[in-house]
Amino acid sequence: MKKNFAEIIVDISAESLDRPFTYRVPEELAERIQIGSVVSIPFGSSKKPIRGYVVGFAEQTTLAPETVKPLKELLTDEETVEARLVRLAVWMSRNCGSTMIQALRTVVPIRRKYRAVVSRTVSIADPAAAGDALAEAERKHYAAKARVLRCLLEEQTMDLAKLERAASVPLSVVRKLADEGILQIDSSEELRLVLKEAEKLPPDIPSPEQQSVIEAIRSEWNANGRPVLINGVTGSGKTVVYTELAADMLQQGKQVIILIPEIALTKQTVMRFVKRFGDKVSFLHSRLSGGERYDQMKAARQGAVSVMVGPRSALFTPFPNLGLIVVDEEHEDTYQSESVPRYDARDTAVKRAELEGAHVILGSATPSVLSARRAETGTYLGLILASRFGGSRLPETEIVDMRAELQNGNRSIFSMSLHRGIEEALASGGQIMLFLNRRGYSGTWTCRSCGSVLRCPHCDVSLTHHRSGRMICHYCGYETPVPKVCPECGSAQIGGLAIGTEQIEELLKKDFPQAGILRMDADTTAGKEGFESILSSFAAHKADILIGTQMIVKGHDFPAVTLVGVLCADMSLNADNYRSSEQTFQLITQVVGRAGRGERPGRAVIQTYNPDHFAVTAAAAQDYRTFYREEMSFRTLMEYPPAGYMTAILGSAYDEALLTQGMHYLRAFIDRIDPRGVLRTIGPAPEAIGKLKDRYRQVIYIRNADREKLILAKDRIEEYIALNSGFSKIRIQFDFNR
Ligand code: ADP
Ligand code: ZN
Ligand code: ZN
Repeated sequence: MKKNFAEIIVDISAESLDRPFTYRVPEELAERIQIGSVVSIPFGSSKKPIRGYVVGFAEQTTLAPETVKPLKELLTDEETVEARLVRLAVWMSRNCGSTMIQALRTVVPIRRKYRAVVSRTVSIADPAAAGDALAEAERKHYAAKARVLRCLLEEQTMDLAKLERAASVPLSVVRKLADEGILQIDSSEELRLVLKEAEKLPPDIPSPEQQSVIEAIRSEWNANGRPVLINGVTGSGKTVVYTELAADMLQQGKQVIILIPEIALTKQTVMRFVKRFGDKVSFLHSRLSGGERYDQMKAARQGAVSVMVGPRSALFTPFPNLGLIVVDEEHEDTYQSESVPRYDARDTAVKRAELEGAHVILGSATPSVLSARRAETGTYLGLILASRFGGSRLPETEIVDMRAELQNGNRSIFSMSLHRGIEEALASGGQIMLFLNRRGYSGTWTCRSCGSVLRCPHCDVSLTHHRSGRMICHYCGYETPVPKVCPECGSAQIGGLAIGTEQIEELLKKDFPQAGILRMDADTTAGKEGFESILSSFAAHKADILIGTQMIVKGHDFPAVTLVGVLCADMSLNADNYRSSEQTFQLITQVVGRAGRGERPGRAVIQTYNPDHFAVTAAAAQDYRTFYREEMSFRTLMEYPPAGYMTAILGSAYDEALLTQGMHYLRAFIDRIDPRGVLRTIGPAPEAIGKLKDRYRQVIYIRNADREKLILAKDRIEEYIALNSGFSKIRIQFDFNR
């Protein structure tokens, strides 16, 4: 395509990111201009040309030729953070399946019409006149006026609101004195920074093991600058490594972004960075108002802060000289955006760093298979922290076979061993965490006698119980009737495993009436402070037992916890996706890692129907390597990522029949453009959540070892959909991160 016309956005931080405007590209610029280029353009009635960002090109335009102005010049020296973020958006729109505008809205902090917080200070403009005025006010008994002048003559300058209170006078009195030229009122815009005060503490001295990891990273940065993956056991002190290297950056006048999962974004975590960097730190969290959020971004842009701590979206903090991006707990799913553009914050961090000459550190006790694979192949530098800081040992673990418990007549949700463990911990004053694995889908069918789960014969993922009363595969659409007995062992003890945290609390109260119990789930954490307050009462030892789901896995260090119980390791194992073993390994390892962080050794009891599953045994042994080897061989066999790439084509519509028809047309189209089946297409199948907000949802997967093939297929599919009116009532989205 010839770049005859450019689509240009004029103000990327405006609320609506208005539609792009079309400009003619002068011939001599056509070769150099690119998407993301900064250009100067004539605009409106303004005499001075303004700055714009190129977001697309066209060969032709339907606009009248005389209305299309040529752009003026290419501003190649304008290396602003905005220009770099626009280039990141270009990459996102292509790689994550979104329009350029959707990508820009994600990447650029949007200025809405928030009322700026203005602070006003009052000072004496004319000291001699003020003295005279005070004498006169006292003589004439103008008490209010006299109080104002006395306050100010003493303080010289005061915050207006404070002065009003101190002198208890209305604003009009102060205003009048200002009009007379005796006082002066200055207003300045104030940023709503989230950290009001901050006290710095001396930094932790890195242990020898931590120090060697820090040195290895420094020399990598001097040599190749690959992204670094730190695989550090729970409690090994990854944060010390992050803060040391972040301090290097600050010393060089650079800035640092630290991403942590939303769920770990507690006061305790943020304070660890504040203690090191004081008021140079800001953080983003979901409870900030839009205006507060915008102000944090502005502070970062202006250099008022240099370290931004926050969830996924903090990745787009507009630091002008970004040095480092840390992604802590990099295995967490929250790094994948669920809305368009469906970007992966880890890959996007690596891309942003590449565009801006910055570095990336990914850290986890249980790295994602994807990142571990990259470390194995040398795309990333992989480093290991093998021991806990301060010599505390990893907990002893015991795997309990729940099938045997059933055979021995124990029908309780607590195994004999866990029951005894709770008794002992309570007796010795230790704290207990009980983790209920609710991850994954409760619609899977498990045999309580032999532990087997109904699986798809084609995809090797769990089948899910569907409202039609059949078992369904969410990848390929395979269906089978709900079995009455276990196909493996013939037992009738087969069905869904469903139990809630509330039920567990009831059972605990019955068995251990003396214990103080806290429960953390969606119900108890609904309030603004719910999450934080439950964690801090448990940390203050105001209760003996904390029951919870995924939420209790992170965020706080509880040194008094001596026992961790994993009530049902299998739920996530049975999740209906190819990452179920990975998720199970991560959950169990992380939760087991909560025990024994203090001086007293810890113990963990893992209850499961699959005691021999490698994800369970490797987690119990805290053995990442074994887990990774087994998992990679499964992925390779099935060509699931990272052995290949997989893209989900998500269709949704209010009309189920229309959706089914459309998705079958789409499948037929893919088969036409891919007659030899290199895309290994599967589906359509109903999505795990088959209906959401009244829209039916179906999915087709395409897989290939070459990501570019999937992107090209996406482009063809998008063209097909655009030309086909049958798709006007079906929404099609792409997810490259499945
Ligand atoms: P991880 O994130 O790897 O699980 P943390 O960074 O939370 O580990 O560290 C675990 C505990 O050890 C924390 O309480 C931390 O303050 C402490 N710690 C780690 N390294 C040091 C150090 N070098 N000096 C003092 N305390 C440390
Ligand atoms: Zn069975
Ligand atoms: Zn299947």
